[in-house]
Formats: sequence, C-alpha cells, structure tokens
Amino acid sequence: MPFAYDDQNIFAKILRGEIPNDTVLETEHTLAFNDIQPQAPVHVLVIPKGAYVCHDDFAANASDAELVDFMRVSARIVAEAGISPGGAGEGYRTISNAGAHGVQEVPHYHLHILAGRPLGRMLA
Ligand code: 5GP
Repeated sequence: MPFAYDDQNIFAKILRGEIPNDTVLETEHTLAFNDIQPQAPVHVLVIPKGAYVCHDDFAANASDAELVDFMRVSARIVAEAGISPGGAGEGYRTISNAGAHGVQEVPHYHLHILAGRPLGRMLA
C-alpha cells in the first residue's frame, strides 16, 4: 500500500521556505537543521527533500542518489559536531520515529541526531 504524504506537514513547509529553520547543512537531496525543542546539546534533524513519510517509505522508495546523499549528510553532521567515537568524540544517538506506536509527530521522514550529554539507555 502506498504511503499517503500530507504536504501540509511542518517539514514540508520548511522545505518550501514557508517557515524558517536553523540550517546546519543542505545538499541537493537533503536538509539538516536544528530541532526547535532540543533534547540534548546537539539535536539535529536530517530530512530528505523528497516527500517520504517515514523510514521504510524512504528506504524502499527513494533513489540511490537520495539514499546516499542522506547518509553522507548524516555522517558529515556527526563529523563536524566532533561527536563520532571514531574521531575521539563521546558518541551520539540516531532515532527515527514512525507512525502511532513510534510516536511520530511530523509525518515527513526525519532522523534525529542527539549528542552532547549521556543519553541514558533506551532499549532494555
Ligand atoms: P518526531 O516526534 O516526529 O520524531 O519529532 C519531530 C521533531 O520535530 C520534534 O523533536 C520537534 O521538536 C521538531 N519540530 C517540530 N516542529 C518544528 C519546527 O517548526 N522547527 C524545527 N526546527 N523543529 C520542529
């Protein structure tokens, strides 16, 4: 069943320039910006510019170029924030909420990158 994309969601409005955002990085296919209600000292949202609802929509239906660009942007944000354990940083967490049980607030696919404090253990 195809995903129904609501083009009035807040990230669609950000992508159209209808509301402002605090951009961290922008490429041809991807936009990354600071979360408006940060849950940690680093809280960046990475979104594809294409109309994808959630992780599996993006992973299944995006082009190879979109997928690679998204992943590379996420890596650049981690590198530039100095939080990669591979670069002597103190680490980070990525989260992508999907649907009702995932408690997804904004129905445009996004990856949260959180860092800058101990984040606790989420999975028991
Ligand atoms: P979700 O629960 O869908 O995974 O997370 C949505 C995230 O979007 C939340 O962390 C929330 O703070 C953030 N958010 C909601 N509206 C805006 C906005 O207008 N601008 C920015 N930068 N972030 C937003």
